[in-house]
Amino acid sequence: MNKILNETTSNRESNIFNCDIASDIAVDEKYQRKSVPNIPDLTEGTVLRHFTALSRKNYALSSTFYPLGSCTMKYNPIINEKIAKFDSFASVHPYQSEDTIQGSLEIMYELEKDLCEVSGMDAFTLQPAAGAHGEHTGLLIISQYFKSKKEKRTKIIVPDSAHGTNPASAMLSGFEVVSLKSEADGTLSPEKLKEILTPEVAGIMMTNPNTLGVFEKHIPEIAEIMHANGSLLYYDGANLNAVMGIARPGDMGFDVMHINLHKTFSTPHGGGGPGAGPVGVKSFLKDFLPVPTVIKEDDKFKLNFGNKKLSVGQMKAFFGNFPVLLKACIYIKSLGGKGLTDASVQANINANYILNLLKNKVSIPAGNVCTHEFVLSTKGHLGEGVRTLDVAKRLLDYGYYAPTIYFPLIVEEAMMIEPTETESKQTLDEFADVLSKIIDESKSNPEVIKNAPSKTSVGRLNEVEAARNPKLRW
Ligand SMILES: *Cc1c(COP(=O)(O)O)cnc(C)c1O
Repeated sequence: MNKILNETTSNRESNIFNCDIASDIAVDEKYQRKSVPNIPDLTEGTVLRHFTALSRKNYALSSTFYPLGSCTMKYNPIINEKIAKFDSFASVHPYQSEDTIQGSLEIMYELEKDLCEVSGMDAFTLQPAAGAHGEHTGLLIISQYFKSKKEKRTKIIVPDSAHGTNPASAMLSGFEVVSLKSEADGTLSPEKLKEILTPEVAGIMMTNPNTLGVFEKHIPEIAEIMHANGSLLYYDGANLNAVMGIARPGDMGFDVMHINLHKTFSTPHGGGGPGAGPVGVKSFLKDFLPVPTVIKEDDKFKLNFGNKKLSVGQMKAFFGNFPVLLKACIYIKSLGGKGLTDASVQANINANYILNLLKNKVSIPAGNVCTHEFVLSTKGHLGEGVRTLDVAKRLLDYGYYAPTIYFPLIVEEAMMIEPTETESKQTLDEFADVLSKIIDESKSNPEVIKNAPSKTSVGRLNEVEAARNPKLRW
């Protein structure tokens, strides 16, 4: 026993207590510091508490309900994160040879097939990094298609209810934007479309269900009109969470579309990404897709560089945001077709449930039935001088993330609510209850609402001042 102790002690002394750290450093003396660095002198525990406190000032799905309309902030299964961290995925290098990354290539191959099945399209590129990047890619495909046919088509029709990225992507892709005025519920009228249709129109961008949460009523007719004009139909698939397993853009007559994997297929987003916006096309546009794509030959997965003359080229380095693709693939495989359909049905039920709890408190311009989200207007329902912005700020005092406000632009004093399928009835009840209370409070105590939030770490910010004179340094 004594011997062991002695040995242990002497080992310890020689290894730890007797070690002269300075003389053991291999860094050449001329590179060593001459003075103590000017960093805060804090204990590790204090630093830990500081960063934990900071993280709690943030809003996150893991801490609160996040009904941010248009963004589909659903619960992202934690197990997907765990799988994405497996060494066999996380340690792979994109320059490895194909034989050593067969599993990763198979994931991409499978994901492409699954997206085709859900959407009714014939092929996908997984490269784009977000919805807007997908729009740009899809529009370049449309542009390249007409170039190959030697047709000069310079215009893209975009409804006035569209997400701002639609006209921006059309401009960025070299097109001129023609605005199409939508009906009161945000839907499109074939008659109004005909009035603005000319031979220069390359295509129309449609969001379905539209940004007011209404399923477009005239898609077959619109598809017929556009195709008869030689023009194409682009489907903004950001709202795919409403229709999985129920309806497919490819069956409706759309030629090109994007899917926001970070919305519908449950990969964490917000704060700028990462995301993924795969673009799907009908078979006649396959050759225009970005390269490389993943193909299967003799039971081996390979990269295919396709038709270099027709392809729009590479839209993102290597394979796109692979971890996002991986998590989306796991999500699809774990839910299966039935699970995906259930998710969409439940998303629609949850949104309709909140709509019904609130419909007597506010106006619902698109009517009392919605898909996975709805837009309300507070106009005429709030106390003197109180606006939707104030209601959103007051929701922060109650610990909620505020819904999207003032979008779409066609609804005055808009608030857009999207609960998603992953929230419980209790959460929906509590949220509707708080929102109703705030609307009542706006009449009984308008000043409290106008000065909200008062319980958050910072109060109401001067947004105009912040935009005009941003203070970027402390
Ligand atoms: C979110 C969204 C987009 C843009 O997608 P990002 O991934 O944020 O670039 C486009 N259209 C609609 C309708 C959206 O909701």
